[in-house]
Amino acid sequence: MKYIGAHVSASGGVENAVLRAVEIGANAFALFTKNQRQWKATPLKAETIEKFKRFCQVHHFQPEHILPHDSYLINLGSPDKEGLEKSRAAFIDELERANQLGLKLLNFHPGSHLNLISESDCLARIAESINMAIEKVPNVIAVIENTAGQGSNLGYRFEHLAEIIDQVEDKNRVGVCLDTCHLFSAGYDISSLASCDETFRQFDEIVGFRYLRGMHLNGSKTPLGSRKDRHDTLREGTIGTDFCKFIMKDDRFDNIPLILETINPEIWADEINFLRTLA
Ligand SMILES: [Zn+2]
Ligand SMILES: [Zn+2]
Repeated sequence: MKYIGAHVSASGGVENAVLRAVEIGANAFALFTKNQRQWKATPLKAETIEKFKRFCQVHHFQPEHILPHDSYLINLGSPDKEGLEKSRAAFIDELERANQLGLKLLNFHPGSHLNLISESDCLARIAESINMAIEKVPNVIAVIENTAGQGSNLGYRFEHLAEIIDQVEDKNRVGVCLDTCHLFSAGYDISSLASCDETFRQFDEIVGFRYLRGMHLNGSKTPLGSRKDRHDTLREGTIGTDFCKFIMKDDRFDNIPLILETINPEIWADEINFLRTLA
């Protein structure tokens, strides 16, 4: 079974995200549990938590199919002591919020070396950050997202993801989310069924499908290997739609949230329908 949704707005309270997912005909969704551009957030109120859980139950959303995303400010591989401490504290808070909402996953971008430390130092810091955080907060799996490799962001090679996972002590608490726009921008061709076959074969060999906990389904505005993170709608842009066909027909993508972060929320319902017709 395929679980498809979008990264919906949580404005007015996280419980509203559930209703927005219902409106677009989704059976999965992603959300921010706090303002993603601020470090601090007011704690979730008991009433909000209760409503969120109740709405999820009423509308049949399971925790495995809900993929909260952390704040963009967090850099778990920060070369700077103060920045690293602040990021780790904020990440722990994000895990706690997810856990309070009864969720099982937290999606995050691995981190950036800012040209001040080596790639392997940065990856080791990220793994150490994950180890510290999952020790503090139970239940929630830290889901590393692959990146486009813009600036000094790591996670654009499958080897980066594998190197982080390798250093995480509790492998049951770490996972991966693959973003199709980021894959393509990072130089992984997914523009044909044959190239998808090869890219996901490499993923399975280097990281392993057992770690795959979610997908971000996005078109890209930039060419293969551009190292730029510019999403497009699903059916426009530079990748084409063969990757949609490939993913919808392949049971290795069953039972995980398949999330649109495409640029036009007004056509999310339509994009979800399009994907369902391919399954
Ligand atoms: Zn993404
Ligand atoms: Zn992106």
